[in-house]
Amino acid sequence: MRPRPDVRDHHASHVLYFRHPSSLDHDPAALSPDHPDSPTRVLAIEAALRQADWLGCQPRSAPAATERELQLVHSPAHVHHLRELCARGGGPIDADTYVGEASYVAALHAAGGACEMVRSLVSGEAGSAFSGLRPAGHHAEPDQAMGFCLFNNVAIAAELAIRELGVERVLIVDWDVHHGNGTAEVFRRRSDVLCASIHQAGLFPGTGAVSDAGSGDGLGYTINAPVPPGSGEEVWLSVLEYVVLPAALEFAPQLVLVSAGFDAHRDDPLGDCLLEAGSFAQMACHVRDMARALGAPVGAVLEGGYDLAALAECVPATIAALDGAGVAESIAPDPLVTSRVAAHVGHYWEL
Ligand code: ZN
Repeated sequence: MRPRPDVRDHHASHVLYFRHPSSLDHDPAALSPDHPDSPTRVLAIEAALRQADWLGCQPRSAPAATERELQLVHSPAHVHHLRELCARGGGPIDADTYVGEASYVAALHAAGGACEMVRSLVSGEAGSAFSGLRPAGHHAEPDQAMGFCLFNNVAIAAELAIRELGVERVLIVDWDVHHGNGTAEVFRRRSDVLCASIHQAGLFPGTGAVSDAGSGDGLGYTINAPVPPGSGEEVWLSVLEYVVLPAALEFAPQLVLVSAGFDAHRDDPLGDCLLEAGSFAQMACHVRDMARALGAPVGAVLEGGYDLAALAECVPATIAALDGAGVAESIAPDPLVTSRVAAHVGHYWEL
């Protein structure tokens, strides 16, 4: 798809990449041996990007988020609790979520990278960007760290765009294999943020039913597309193309954010889906073209993805696609899952 004439032509073509060494200092395995959320995830991604000369991206240092930015989404008590727990040397938050002394600073930079990314995109400095930091964020709720997530990086960035940068409508596409419950909770009653999550049904955290469309003023602005275990790109891409994208085009966001988890890859130890690097590239191509048609920049934030070789392939493939590589190919509509999701979402959007 060629950009329409209304695409903002001041967007430069390069992708910005946000990183920070503190992402390597948060290590849940120190308290929970064999924890899948390891600093090696970022090492694997950055080794692959370095080998590809960063794909022409400009690596940027992610600043620490300020307390004011964190409190766009989180309660002061939540921020205080995490800071104090880390200052005392860390400990478990739940059966999956652990922090050490360095985790607080890592989490500040993960949130700050997403915020800086959004500032760069909204200012027109770049048309697309990737924030490759950890810990991830999409499970974190305003008052609760969970599911490896401490602060909800993508939600904080979306709130920053709306409250401080003059953006009126933000689309968040969450293609992590797990439901982005935290993000959904933050925006559940809002009509200025459309949250669309494709996730494997029945996995942690158990939320994200197809019937949950948000509530109050936000009714219809939550799209949940649970897919069965074993789903491959014929299902994921079909739901994206025939449900998420038509709703997104009607919503007409001025900023598109992607909660980019890569745990729907066939080799991932936590998910049971069958995507490959090319599938993520295709999802990125479709999101890129939708955003270009609307003149909206796209920023992706790293969420899950626990197979190192898969991450090393999928993140560069996603960045290349966001930067313009590849053609979004139309796929035959998957008859079962897509029509079931469309039957719910079609109450609110023209599909
Ligand atoms: Zn995940």
